[in-house]
Amino acid sequence: MKLTNNHRCQGCDVLGQAWATFFKPDGMPYVEAHHVVQVSTLSVDVLGPQNVITVCPNHHRQLHFEVTTVLHLGDEFEFILPPHLAFRIRKFSV
Ligand SMILES: [Zn+2]
Ligand SMILES: [Zn+2]
Repeated sequence: MKLTNNHRCQGCDVLGQAWATFFKPDGMPYVEAHHVVQVSTLSVDVLGPQNVITVCPNHHRQLHFEVTTVLHLGDEFEFILPPHLAFRIRKFSV
């Protein structure tokens, strides 16, 4: 999964920000996998690639603490952070 996304933070990319992460000893940037629908829901396909985005540690914490709404728009997610930040991330194709 991380390889197919080239170890990029999809949040930083879509917001035009410098990656808020560090580089591992192998020279690759560190990213984390975020399950958009939480794994604890045990929903169908919750572990599938279309439910996962790759994000830097900073955006990962922000998604867990600040996102109040996630819209599922076809092949994109829209994350809404109050009061007025929203951004869209393309789902992985399967
Ligand atoms: Zn990021
Ligand atoms: Zn997460």
